Amino acid sequence: MARVNNWQIGRDMSYWYAEERPRKQFAAVFDINKCIACQTCTIACKTTWTSGRGQEYMLWNNVESKPFGFYPIAWDVNALDLLGAGDWKGNTYQGRTLFEAAREGERVLGCPPAADDYANPNLGEDDALDTGALINKGLELLVPQAVWFFYLARICNHCTYPACLAACPRGAIYKRPEDGIVLADQKKCRGYRECVKACPYKKVFFNADANVSQKCIGCYPLVEQKEQPRCFKNCIGKIRNQGFLSRPQDAREDNPIDYLVHIRKLALPLLPQLGLEPNVYYVPPINAPKTFLKQMFGPGVEQAVETYKGAAQDPKIVALLSLFGCTPKTIHRFKVIGGDVAGYDEKGDEIVRVPVKEPAFVRAPMNGDVPRLNVT
Ligand code: SF4
Ligand code: SF4
Repeated sequence: MARVNNWQIGRDMSYWYAEERPRKQFAAVFDINKCIACQTCTIACKTTWTSGRGQEYMLWNNVESKPFGFYPIAWDVNALDLLGAGDWKGNTYQGRTLFEAAREGERVLGCPPAADDYANPNLGEDDALDTGALINKGLELLVPQAVWFFYLARICNHCTYPACLAACPRGAIYKRPEDGIVLADQKKCRGYRECVKACPYKKVFFNADANVSQKCIGCYPLVEQKEQPRCFKNCIGKIRNQGFLSRPQDAREDNPIDYLVHIRKLALPLLPQLGLEPNVYYVPPINAPKTFLKQMFGPGVEQAVETYKGAAQDPKIVALLSLFGCTPKTIHRFKVIGGDVAGYDEKGDEIVRVPVKEPAFVRAPMNGDVPRLNVT
């Protein structure tokens, strides 16, 4: 085991390989507050990459309703259960990561899902109440109680310290030095499924037909053409933005991902305490209990929710969130110009410009002799 730095848990930790960061790190921000669970992203991915034999149950992108939705069943509950309680002191995680808690002879503390765990892709959708528990207590009619849920869109996190990569005895999983995308080499893989067991997010899938593991490829053919992945381009709610993340000490104020993750700390990693340094970041929902959110997104969640609620005080946040979903290209820099916000590519050429505030047009109440019902 090597000692590596994990900024998300505020300390060094043990990992199977030495720290070797890519030249650029693929990263994304999802604004949970805007997701409508339309599953367009899921279908965009499914029809592009996983419509083949042995891939029937594979959802490289899925959207689940928290707290009672999971795919596969209980993936997060199982990971947290394995690790046990671990507290934070400020921004430093005091417990053990999945690498540090590995059993004798193993590289990662993992658990293999059962085949049945993949049988219900959208279990718990829109469930706001644990009806099973209520019915068991004979309380099914005693609603209302605190009612809340939110949608969690998920893809592979293209982790800085991938558990799938660490666990593979064949060295079949690798992280590309040019963009940090994590791929599974189909020729090297022998279908041992150590990666499936190790990934706590359960974003590697086993293809029984081909006897290999397969996973989200970050749409690297698009990324190589400076374009965002399919699930980003097709997002109806415009909740997603893909770009590249710097290390905290190198954060640039004009990099959209850096600004939201490092500078305003508005977007947070999913289950940072597991130790993988995942690279999909979430603007947390403002309607869920803080204790639940803290477990899911770490200690910065209260501040992030307050920052989001007060976003009007920071015109750059409002402007940047307005850019989400407005271009298929990857935005490397952004700038607020008067009432507009512009995005630029890697060379500095402008690729998109949108108004920060949508213009409103008020039409005459009558169209000739015909009344208009909607005048805006
Ligand atoms: S989310 Fe899972 S599959 Fe993706 S890089 Fe991390 S450990 Fe590997
Ligand atoms: S397409 Fe966008 S809004 Fe629709 S479910 Fe996916 S992430 Fe949510």
